[in-house]
Amino acid sequence: MKDSNCIFCMIANGEIPSRTILENERFRVILDNGPATRGHALVLPKEHFANLFDMPEDWLKDAAVTAQQAAGRIRDKLSIDGLNIVQNNGEAAGQTVHHFHIHVIPRYKDDGQKILWSPRHPSDSELDAVCGELNA
Ligand code: AMP
Ligand code: ZN
Repeated sequence: MKDSNCIFCMIANGEIPSRTILENERFRVILDNGPATRGHALVLPKEHFANLFDMPEDWLKDAAVTAQQAAGRIRDKLSIDGLNIVQNNGEAAGQTVHHFHIHVIPRYKDDGQKILWSPRHPSDSELDAVCGELNA
């Protein structure tokens, strides 16, 4: 199902122009218009799913393959030094558009971006506690 109020539904289905770098039956891959780096792309499903939790398993598999294809294109055509795949769910995690998308972010030596996190140093008992909760 599409959501007529969703900008990514409109972009994915070609109702709003975008800088498309790859397209298949289920996905359109576009350039992010506020890119972290040169070539930053977004994998958008043509159906509306708000986030990872709403994605059917077969769509998720196709999304991963499409992201890999986009990443390969970016690696082959641009002189990149690395690449991050990022996928945000919920405002606390930085999601601003509530239509599932995968960020494909090429990285360049000294590009000045900070996509990685600061590691915390929990005690063994804290790690054991969370492990216990997740296995309960
Ligand atoms: P997120 O914060 O994970 O929800 O990512 C949303 C991304 O969509 C941001 O990186 C925006 O720059 C990008 N974005 C929002 N609107 C558009 C648009 N119309 N065309 C291309 N990229 C967009
Ligand atoms: Zn949508």
